[in-house]
Amino acid sequence: MTAQLIDGKALSQQLRNDVRQGVATLKSQNITPGLAVVLVGDNPASEVYVRNKVKACEDTGMHSVLERHGADLSQAALLERIEALNQDPTIHGILVQLPLPAHIDAQRVIKAISPTKDVDGFHVTSAGALMTGMSGFWPCTPFGCMKMLESIGYSLKGKHAVVIGRSNIVGKPMALMLLQANATITVCHSGTQNLKALTLQADVIVAAVGKRNVLTADMVKPGAVVLDVGMNRNGAGKLCGDVDFEGVRQVASHITPVPGGVGPMTITMLMMNTLLAAQGSVGA
Ligand code: NAP
Repeated sequence: MTAQLIDGKALSQQLRNDVRQGVATLKSQNITPGLAVVLVGDNPASEVYVRNKVKACEDTGMHSVLERHGADLSQAALLERIEALNQDPTIHGILVQLPLPAHIDAQRVIKAISPTKDVDGFHVTSAGALMTGMSGFWPCTPFGCMKMLESIGYSLKGKHAVVIGRSNIVGKPMALMLLQANATITVCHSGTQNLKALTLQADVIVAAVGKRNVLTADMVKPGAVVLDVGMNRNGAGKLCGDVDFEGVRQVASHITPVPGGVGPMTITMLMMNTLLAAQGSVGA
């Protein structure tokens, strides 16, 4: 079997069209959805991420503000900026690019963002809403993974999903979303024993670790759906995921590539969340 690719680039373009339409509708009511991206320090990877987020705003017709601060910005000054953005009626979504410099408590900063503008879905209120099945912002990467499963018409009901990784931004919310969709969940982490025995039972596997070849063909049940969240560099410096793509595609029924899989979906879901925040601000 050669797996069908789930093309995140193509799907994200489709979803962006929906976002563009939603933005146009709000603009016709004199509301332009606005996203503030706050960058502290000069982490080169963060520079690329924030640039792409600002570009996505331009692409969808949204207003964006990129706030750059030096690495020596104090936590108190950053909290003041967040509060100003919370009060700014032209801003519907606030995103603080992580990681923050070591002297700043990221949790404290995320907590300062108004839950109504928490388009990254990292605030404890958003996490609690997801946990309890209430409406709220879903973290963009797992939200994008759910959209990818939806795009292939995959019914999660009664399926066994194995999530590898338990971070607050990917693994844990991913598991909760899959659970909400009535899958049975196993969450694995660095202390998990015999990962292969667990993944071999899975109908769906989400790899979100940050290490190459965490998932190889011998660990995958024939016909399983495999979503690769990881972003790593191989020996030649080329972007690759956590999954041994060439091997696993011979066994899985569907697989996401890296690049061109989960990555483009993440930014598009950020646009979707910002649109939802703007719609929420006017009760649309
Ligand atoms: P993270 O916070 O470092 O979490 C990694 C998780 O993997 C941890 O829960 C860790 O377990 C677990 N882990 C480590 N080694 C393992 C092993 N050998 N077997 C099983 N589990 C293991 O990373 P993250 O932020 O979730 O990101 C994960 C990956 O996704 C990274 O490559 C990141 O760059 C990528 N990512 C991509 C996107 C995108 O848009 N495509 C978005 C976000 C992240 P412990 O909890 O026990 O330490």
